[in-house]
Amino acid sequence: MNLSFRNRIALHYMIATAIIMAVIFGIVFFVVQETMYQNIDNDLTFEASKHSDEIKIIDNTIQFVNKAEWEEIEHKEIQINPVFIQIIDTNGRVMDKSPNLKSDVLSFKNTEKTAAHFNTLLKDKSIRQIQKPIQSNGKTKGYLLAAMTLEPSMMVLIKLRNILIISYLLMLSVLYFISRYLAGRSIIPVKNITETTNHITRNNFNERVQLPIYKDELYDLSSGINKLLQRIENAIARERQFTSDASHELRTPLSSLRGTLEVLIRKPRAQEEYESKIKYSLSEIDRMTQTIEQLLILARLDSSNNINNDETILLPTLIQDILSRHGNEILSKQLSINFKNETNEQITVPKYYTNLILDNVISNAMKYSNNKGKIYISLTHSKGHVICRIKDEGIGIKHEDIPQVFNHFFRSDALEHKHISGNGLGLSIAQKSAEAINAKIYLESSVNVGSIFTINFK
Ligand code: ADP
Repeated sequence: MNLSFRNRIALHYMIATAIIMAVIFGIVFFVVQETMYQNIDNDLTFEASKHSDEIKIIDNTIQFVNKAEWEEIEHKEIQINPVFIQIIDTNGRVMDKSPNLKSDVLSFKNTEKTAAHFNTLLKDKSIRQIQKPIQSNGKTKGYLLAAMTLEPSMMVLIKLRNILIISYLLMLSVLYFISRYLAGRSIIPVKNITETTNHITRNNFNERVQLPIYKDELYDLSSGINKLLQRIENAIARERQFTSDASHELRTPLSSLRGTLEVLIRKPRAQEEYESKIKYSLSEIDRMTQTIEQLLILARLDSSNNINNDETILLPTLIQDILSRHGNEILSKQLSINFKNETNEQITVPKYYTNLILDNVISNAMKYSNNKGKIYISLTHSKGHVICRIKDEGIGIKHEDIPQVFNHFFRSDALEHKHISGNGLGLSIAQKSAEAINAKIYLESSVNVGSIFTINFK
């Protein structure tokens, strides 16, 4: 059965209440019935003992003493709740009986225990009966049977049963609607969540689920979903920003290439001019190629299929490799590189990611150093971590730009340093690679003093 959540809550609530109510109503009915039997049984016991004292036993006959008086009362009064009395001998023969029995006789049950109460029928009507042995000289001479009609009590019981059943069904159906209504009210926040999330698309990600008044589980769910929506919105905004920055970054060299070529084709030029314009165009193409390569690296770092079984390499070896790759730049800028390995252990690191981190940071140190600048690279151990410090004495970074240098395409004071080429992707790649291997990058920098990048490998 495919019930709605609201109906399911109402149904569960109703089943629980139905069981509790059935038990309570059952107990009420049982208690009333037992009390009724107890009252009748007490009356019967009383009547039986009273009439036991009013009998005479002569030889083999047993009779009532005051039968005449009894018959007179029977004639004069109408008994509302008559008591039927009968005497039988041990063979079950009727010896005497109360006048109200007329031609009827009470049945004797040999199987019943002495003085036990039981239900039986008299002229097809329910009666309650007791049979008490009549003793004389220690011998049972016969039995005194006393009976009372059960009809009025039965009627009360049947009425009570019917009232209980009807009110049980009525209460259950009322309860079902009340609990359905209450369940409906309590799941309003869930409906809000469904409605809001259903009409959220890429274009209206700023919508949020309305928070319930009470700080309960549904409040936590709604605010959890709002936080999730916020994170998705931020991610989408970042993605949009990234796409627009990337297109801008690629469009600029393309338009400059186009402009150069258009100017060049307008009229014949001198050989030197052709050469210089073609060299410029090639450098723009190189810049674009580098940007595209870096974008691909970023896309790869962003996707979930990161390299899991990255091969490892000794950290000092990797640093030496990077330095020799940048040999030409070191020479042309006459940089002095001071590399100190203060660790005495063999430190291995994931090659792909560590290379992306250190290559970008070390090449920046070279790029942003002045000619004849000094670069200090050190490897140390601290609190069980390997620390790599790359310090340069270059142009430095403005204090307020420090938190932004790891953002995509951010370049600090790019116009001030037009001669230094770059696209603002290197440190983003370094940061993402560090995240992939649980390393941390810290940056201290002052303008015209230099920068220190500290990488903490866990
Ligand atoms: P870019 O290609 O511009 O070098 P990066 O992401 O590598 O891009 O660096 C972002 C910005 O951070 C640079 O444009 C530069 O302003 C600044 N920066 C990075 N490293 C250094 C450094 N060692 N010295 C001075 N500025 C730096």
